Amino acid sequence: MNDFLVIGGGIAGTSAAARLAPLGKTLLLEREPALGYHASGRSAALFEANYGLDSTVALSRASADFHANAQGGFLSPRGLMLVAKADDAAAFEAACLDLNMDPIPLSRAFDMVPILNPDMIGYTAYHEEAYDIDTDREIQVFASIARDHGGAVITGQDVTAIRRAHSGWIVTSNGTDHEARSIVNAAGAWVDEIARMAGIKPLGFTPLRRSMARLPAPGGHDVSRWPMLIGAHEDWYAKPDAGKFLVSPADEDPQEPHDAWADDMVLAEGLARYEEHVTTPVTRVESNWAGLRTFSPDRNLVIGPASDDPFFLWCAGQGGYGFQTAPAASRLLADVVSGRPSELDATTLAALNPQRFA
Ligand SMILES: Cc1cc2nc3c(=O)[nH]c(=O)nc-3n(C[C@H](O)[C@H](O)[C@H](O)COP(=O)(O)OP(=O)(O)OC[C@H]3O[C@@H](n4cnc5c(N)ncnc54)[C@H](O)[C@@H]3O)c2cc1C
Repeated sequence: MNDFLVIGGGIAGTSAAARLAPLGKTLLLEREPALGYHASGRSAALFEANYGLDSTVALSRASADFHANAQGGFLSPRGLMLVAKADDAAAFEAACLDLNMDPIPLSRAFDMVPILNPDMIGYTAYHEEAYDIDTDREIQVFASIARDHGGAVITGQDVTAIRRAHSGWIVTSNGTDHEARSIVNAAGAWVDEIARMAGIKPLGFTPLRRSMARLPAPGGHDVSRWPMLIGAHEDWYAKPDAGKFLVSPADEDPQEPHDAWADDMVLAEGLARYEEHVTTPVTRVESNWAGLRTFSPDRNLVIGPASDDPFFLWCAGQGGYGFQTAPAASRLLADVVSGRPSELDATTLAALNPQRFA
């Protein structure tokens, strides 16, 4: 009998398994042949602690030390620059407040990112405290922490049935039954589907598609030290990535859970918004993709026991912040399960608690 059976092998499931394995026998089942295949393999990999609702910011701040220092650290410097057109003063001010950023002189911004269009841009802000996360390595490290504590992490396992037994759950994957005292639902876009399978009330999660285009480095520049750029309306962003340049339309289109792909028109419109801010036209898209960022109805994460069954644990609704919040969100799950006090404040705990939907 497993103590914990984690469904989903993205960042949510692997981090949960790493924290739970020291507390009891843990099994993680992932449908795809590899970990991090869906949202977790398609992110912008940014750590920006000021991004998101208050509870998200609290989780990100509580995760910072792990990202920076655990296992040699997962962060490298990136920086974040906010750019706004000359007629966008109000949006610029609001975004500065939202992201806790300070305006910088335009000349400094143009020195840092020479493709910015001086005829269009009227305001820029910058801060250093935004970092790239080595997301692939972080997932693998969490999985190996789980294994080091005796846990099993198995890919290619499609969970198709879940039923209540008198002493726990029976979870069927690939025709085999697995017994577990508690289930951890870390199935990303599929979390409500897993709840339905288990006879638990779904909470009304919405998967929102977010797309990404990979471009050659604009103008042949060495982009490696450029900061991430974000438009004042947060309706596009761009980021260096291994010598290339990623541009996202920052789309949020509701979707059914599926293996997401980018919509050509949405990408084209986002690239046009980006192009208004730079002097280098987009001549070629080398590749593109999309992933589903899955939000709860109030957009706070959902961490802890379901109100209708204390042995069904939600680890869901990571939205656009699954990596930056994972170290603290998974620690919270383990704290709740083991009865340890959490380092998070009471307001944050209430915002994350599944009981708020009861
Ligand atoms: C374009 C984009 C940019 C992003 N940028 C950032 C960023 O900069 N920083 C950040 O922190 N976050 C970012 N995010 C968000 C982040 O990627 C997600 O919050 C995070 O990956 C969600 O992780 P997850 O483990 O919950 O979901 P997933 O990675 O989707 O994992 C869920 C897993 O559950 C599995 N599963 C589902 N049903 C079953 C079943 N029946 N049986 C077995 N397995 C099942 C799926 O196969 C899947 O692998 C971004 C996301 C996107 C799409």
